[in-house]
Amino acid sequence: MKDRYAVIGNPIGHTKSPLIHGLFAQETGEDLSYTALEGPVEPADAFAATVRAFIAAGGKGMNVTAPFKLQAFALADERSERAELAGAANALRFEGGRIVAENFDGVGLLRDIEVNLGLPIAGKRVLILGAGGAARGALLPFVAARPAELVIANRHVAKAQTLVAQVVADSPLLACGYRELAAMGHFDLVVNATSASLAGELPPLPPGVFSATGAAYELVYGKGLTPFLRLAREAAVPRVADGVGMLVEQAAEAFAWWRGVRPQTRAVIDRLTVPLD
Ligand code: NDP
Repeated sequence: MKDRYAVIGNPIGHTKSPLIHGLFAQETGEDLSYTALEGPVEPADAFAATVRAFIAAGGKGMNVTAPFKLQAFALADERSERAELAGAANALRFEGGRIVAENFDGVGLLRDIEVNLGLPIAGKRVLILGAGGAARGALLPFVAARPAELVIANRHVAKAQTLVAQVVADSPLLACGYRELAAMGHFDLVVNATSASLAGELPPLPPGVFSATGAAYELVYGKGLTPFLRLAREAAVPRVADGVGMLVEQAAEAFAWWRGVRPQTRAVIDRLTVPLD
């Protein structure tokens, strides 16, 4: 029997994960099956029961998407440091009766920015908008990339402050609200890790946060020029990108974690890219 993997979420109809992992399996010659599972949101213990049934049927690992990332984290017997800080899991591995939780969203994002887009973080002023699961997952990999400054801005400032307080004291990290950004000058990289674009909204950014020699990155993908990316374009930011590369890179990290072989990502990113204009 083939090793079984799946992505679990609700809704799950939109997912690209079976396509991505199918292409990875083809390219690496790994013999596995990968399906999409619509997880039950009720009753409260139904998610755990679905995961355990998948394990009993030969499941080796899962990707986890909304709204189950917190439940997947809670269900695990072991958690990586990245998952701990995020308080959320986006990948699970099942080994010897144990459930291990990881969070590859942040490493996937960083790899897309540094490797695919060729924008090293070291020594740069970086602004991350949002303090939800995706921003939390991104924090440790970003700190490890040694930016000169890393500012986390969120509507509910306390959430950003709590997050920053959990990271080592000597990191160049600052939490703030949107209004305080007005006095902070421009940033080399602005990352929109809010879900504002999903509703066609824009975080209340003051003018001047973008740099005319910098970059803007939107985590939402496949939606063309979101209000955030449009604002960056209007500010003449030369490099703008959406999150399709992050999606593929986090998938590649999970694949490597499960199978011990890292797939190539370029062709898969190209295949899934929806032009911004
Ligand atoms: P969460 O629901 O955990 O967090 C949402 C964040 O967005 C919060 O910080 C919230 O602020 C903020 N927010 C929502 N609406 C607005 C608004 N109108 N203005 C300003 N801030 C706003 O979401 P996630 O962190 O899990 O995901 C964030 C985004 O990243 C989603 O769009 C998701 O699709 C995308 N994503 C993309 C991935 C990829 O592979 N490309 C992977 C993971 C996520 P507050 O706390 O103040 O309410």
